[in-house]
Amino acid sequence: MNPWLVLVLNLSAPLSALLAPPVDADRFECLRATFPQTISALDAAAEPAAVVLADGRRLVWDDKRTKTADERLNDPDVQDTLAEPYPMGPGSTPPKGREDPGRTRHTALMGALWGASEQAVRGALEKVVWMPKHGPGKTLYFNKHHGAAAALRRVSADLDALPAKFHKYVTVTAGTFVWRHIAGTERLSAHSHAIAIDINVKYTHYWRWSLKREPDLPWRNRIPLEIVEVFERHGFIWGGKWHHYDTMHFEYRPELLHPRCVERRE
Ligand SMILES: [Zn+2]
Repeated sequence: MNPWLVLVLNLSAPLSALLAPPVDADRFECLRATFPQTISALDAAAEPAAVVLADGRRLVWDDKRTKTADERLNDPDVQDTLAEPYPMGPGSTPPKGREDPGRTRHTALMGALWGASEQAVRGALEKVVWMPKHGPGKTLYFNKHHGAAAALRRVSADLDALPAKFHKYVTVTAGTFVWRHIAGTERLSAHSHAIAIDINVKYTHYWRWSLKREPDLPWRNRIPLEIVEVFERHGFIWGGKWHHYDTMHFEYRPELLHPRCVERRE
């Protein structure tokens, strides 16, 4: 198109629209399509742009602040939680640079989706018998909203069907629901919302445990990618794809695995 024509068209738009960064409709659609009972609309014309929930509440979609990685973790708008595409495919490990896809969570959004208090989450718990064919048949508690517990049940069945050499990583688990903050922070852990599971701690690597020995945090992992593939197939992201790795940690975040948001790496 003729550049002058572009200029003329732009001049006809309101000044605020010219100055505002574009709202990422694809990322919003990943959220809305995944949680249609909770997420109603994106009010992109509002200042600031807002996510409208089914109960009428509004959450800031884009606060227009430029943030460091730490600022994004501690004070995200909803858009920040979808800013780093979650990678799948054979080229998805080790993590590129300092990426932490899915590690940013929005407290009010998590509360609206899964329960905003310990009592509310307790009321949403559903039993999942974990790997009844190969494990001790332990009962785990997971959030029943938005298909999370049902997804964990499917993970359990698929892990039960994997060859025996994989079982030692997953038959013993290290916890699902516990109302707590992330170590060293004021932020609620995904375990508080009963949407995360830690597998066998014996084979895990966690960045905080490595920090003193290896301050640059070179990637460490012993969890076979066949196990990761099972979880991802059912809507879980893996903490092993984070620069701040937590390789026992799997978290139900199907919005990040939506085809319009996930990133395929060959
Ligand atoms: Zn965890």
